[in-house]
Amino acid sequence: MDHSTHEAPLLEVRNIERRFGALVAVNDVSFAVPAGQVFGIAGPNGSGKSTLFNVMTGIPFGPSAGKVLLEGREIQSLRAHEISRAGIARTFQKDAEFGTLSAFENAYAGAVYCAGLSGAQAREEAHKALDDVGLSNDRRDKAAGDLTVFERKQLMIASAIAGRPRILLLDEPAAGLTRPEVSDLAELIRTVNGRGVTILLIEHVLPLLLSVSQHLLILNHGAVIASGKPAEVVRDPQVVEAYLGKREAAL
Ligand code: ADP
Ligand code: MG
Repeated sequence: MDHSTHEAPLLEVRNIERRFGALVAVNDVSFAVPAGQVFGIAGPNGSGKSTLFNVMTGIPFGPSAGKVLLEGREIQSLRAHEISRAGIARTFQKDAEFGTLSAFENAYAGAVYCAGLSGAQAREEAHKALDDVGLSNDRRDKAAGDLTVFERKQLMIASAIAGRPRILLLDEPAAGLTRPEVSDLAELIRTVNGRGVTILLIEHVLPLLLSVSQHLLILNHGAVIASGKPAEVVRDPQVVEAYLGKREAAL
């Protein structure tokens, strides 16, 4: 096939594999994400979702095999801070804020680490990011550990986007939120996306995933079992069998 007339996707993962001894945690995964998309990822616990983000960001390790391309340029061998400076930011499944630092200082640290900014410029970007996520001014001097659960999610996203990334990877951001807060998070994700940030979203909360994603990929035992339009993917018999059926049985 002749791809020469097509622009490269913003991000492409090609035949990525990550082994831990005999375990193949990510098994020959490939996908492409066009600029501007919200790209959803789901799958059972242990299916390799977080490991996929880990190898894409080099935190703490890269892939065992395969390529990650940013606008056609290979980045899988770069170090974590280089990948971050190239424009890929992420959040973590577990709380990763500095609890004793203020909310502002956390966002500032994001601008410093992710974009290599300093001084007044880092301060300005930190405040802009906090504006973007809607964390009110009077909460910014509070210790991050004293914020509410939802405010910590806002802060987590602010710290990640304070470096002005082109791509944001979110790993189960809805964990621990109430249903109304999940709606607020959906709005927040749309706002960030609307500012031109391409988003990859790992999420167990399917209503959220389905409401914000234009594309949905399902992993099972490290491999892609479905990838396509969200409404079609959730009807795929293999997806129902491997993931959705079990979820319903567990309810
Ligand atoms: P998910 O995020 O989909 O729940 P993970 O990517 O966290 O799944 O894990 C996928 C598989 O890889 C699991 O079996 C997990 O135990 C294993 N795994 C993840 N990280 C490591 C590691 N650093 N060392 C060994 N095994 C790991
Ligand atoms: Mg995970």
